[in-house]
Amino acid sequence: MEGMDLPKLIEQFSSEEKCRAYLEELRWPTGPQCPRCEKPTTVSRLASRNQFECDKCRYQFSVTAGTLFHDSHLPLWKWFLAVYLMSESKKGISAKQLQRMLKVSYKTAWYLSHRIRDAMGDDEQPLLKGTVEVDETLIGGKRKGYGTGYRGNKVIVAGAIERGGEIRLRLVPNTRKKNLQGFIKSTVSDETKNIYTDELKSYIGIGNENTRHETVEHSEDEYVRGDVHTNTVESAWSLLRRSVVGTYHQISVKHLPAYLDEMEFRFNRRNNPYLFRDILLVLLHGDALPYHILIERTDPGERQRENDALVKRTAKSLARKERSSTLKNSKQKPRSKNKQLAK
Ligand SMILES: [Zn+2]
Repeated sequence: MEGMDLPKLIEQFSSEEKCRAYLEELRWPTGPQCPRCEKPTTVSRLASRNQFECDKCRYQFSVTAGTLFHDSHLPLWKWFLAVYLMSESKKGISAKQLQRMLKVSYKTAWYLSHRIRDAMGDDEQPLLKGTVEVDETLIGGKRKGYGTGYRGNKVIVAGAIERGGEIRLRLVPNTRKKNLQGFIKSTVSDETKNIYTDELKSYIGIGNENTRHETVEHSEDEYVRGDVHTNTVESAWSLLRRSVVGTYHQISVKHLPAYLDEMEFRFNRRNNPYLFRDILLVLLHGDALPYHILIERTDPGERQRENDALVKRTAKSLARKERSSTLKNSKQKPRSKNKQLAK
């Protein structure tokens, strides 16, 4: 099924039976298989239509047996609609929005959005090559009562984009050389032809005998020099900022890694007309991770704590930088104080 839009979705998946039939096609392209028997057996469809029975072991099963569709006890059309909404919305969809649109509890909406986001996650990420733009940006909102200088809800996101290709987005604790060049080394092939960045000192030295490193001097009002610019990655920042501010409001910083994954996924598949089907396939074949385990794992699981720590470190590092630049401006020597803070 190529492409998906709302009229198609309503026409093709307006009932449980239609959704079920489609999942059958996806799960068993060559006809229903018994999930318990190792070798293919013949299987009979039971009169109730939703159930099959294995002729050999007599096990009765449905197309959702052993999948998270079964575990969730949610009507299939709500799953389908949630997958559609999350895969099609360029700016992302929050659990809160899903809750309103699907008329489900917040917990269910949260579960759905995490499972679907999980299914969107990329496991294999090839290194970028060719001409790659790299940039970093500050993301996050103001917080009531804290004024505009408040940094506790802000983080730095590093991004690399292959022209005409994929994007990689990561949180980094600060913009020091170690972090930004570490990010580049983990996402960009060291045989890539060009790396274009702004004039930030942390990028100096990223080029090598295979790779030409060019910078645009934003401080000199230079944005494009021939082929050299970072406009592509910057347009990703404006999309990210709109989605964080517009869709997720201020709750998002600690969930940001999950949103970055989702944005990467959608961006990297912008030309895949089978996105809707592909997500359903992953959900169908993925582990049927039950609700309570998911909650344990992600909230307040390890990843969560790691992210929280990263957010804190970022805020501290930004505060430190701000303090030191204020001190510099007032011509005081910040060195000893900074050293203490750095501990
Ligand atoms: Zn069987």
